Amino acid sequence: MSILVYVENIEGDFKKSAFEVVSYAKAIADQTGDSLTAISIGQVADENLSKLGNYGASKVLNVQNEQLKNFVNKAYGSILAEAAKSEQAKVVVLSNSFSGKGLAPRIATKLNAALADGAIELPEISGDTFKLKKSAFSSKAFATEELTTAVKVIAVNPNSYEVKETGGSATIESFTPSLNQDDFSVIVKEIVRATDKISLPEAEIVVSAGRGLKGPENWGIIEELAEVLGAATACSKPVSDADWRPHSEHVGQTGIVVSPNLYIAIGISGAIQHLAGVSSSKTIVVINKDPEAPFFKVADYGIVGDAFEVVPKLTEALKKF
Ligand code: FAD
Repeated sequence: MSILVYVENIEGDFKKSAFEVVSYAKAIADQTGDSLTAISIGQVADENLSKLGNYGASKVLNVQNEQLKNFVNKAYGSILAEAAKSEQAKVVVLSNSFSGKGLAPRIATKLNAALADGAIELPEISGDTFKLKKSAFSSKAFATEELTTAVKVIAVNPNSYEVKETGGSATIESFTPSLNQDDFSVIVKEIVRATDKISLPEAEIVVSAGRGLKGPENWGIIEELAEVLGAATACSKPVSDADWRPHSEHVGQTGIVVSPNLYIAIGISGAIQHLAGVSSSKTIVVINKDPEAPFFKVADYGIVGDAFEVVPKLTEALKKF
């Protein structure tokens, strides 16, 4: 028996979440006494594949095929289910990323497995039962679920499990799936990155701003603070609706869900729909001129003040570190 973990890459480099899910799966494998196999799909060099050994994988299945260069939900789902069967995997772990959200239910259906999507902690394992905490209702709540099927699928929220190096090494094996043309009914011809900036769902620090910034011309202070901190930028929904910022920065119930180590909210009121996307951040700092702004209720640190005065001072102070 084994644990199978799917590792995502972008143009041949593993995403940070890939190392998170391997570390997460390794912690499960250590508890169950099973071996850990990682599976990578796409054009990834052996040198990169072998890095997975350092996070606990003892074997890496490498699926390379020109048709699979870009993500194809149906085909990737079939491959992962086939690999899970051939490895006799009792748990399949993947990231609850954009692609993971589509893949996880597909794999679970094919394997007749229980699915926990949005896991934020390791499961408590008792025999065949896994009990684990996950985010629920667009991250407005947490749920504890018990998975009781023989095979289980767990999709882990990005940034919710720490990457741990083990110093181990992995063997690399080529895996040739039995591809079916039905799996390619939708083909992604090309993926063009919208920006070279830090990816928002994976960012460790997010600097986010709302309508309190008054207009797009004022975003320079947000960009500068983000640059000093090595952070991704984000915004509230009305800001992206008004085209002040791109929709790819909109966080919340109807946008991206983030769980960075630090979320700085500037001129954002803290409506429940916004909080749905940020409440699992480890530390929340709020800068708002209204002391009654609801965001302060969930803040770890708050500054009551005018963003146009506070943010440049903060940036200048941080530049000294
Ligand atoms: P506002 O509510 O206008 O707040 C602006 C804040 O800036 C205020 O708190 C004000 O005190 C402060 N401020 C003003 N000037 C300054 C200054 N100079 N310095 C410091 N602070 C200042 N919203 C989301 O963000 N994400 C979602 O995914 C989302 N989904 C939604 C889904 C539905 C179905 C609905 C109905 C709404 C959704 N919303 C979402 C909208 C949400 O309800 C709020 O309207 C929105 O989050 C408010 O954005 P805001 O905080 O930027 O603006």
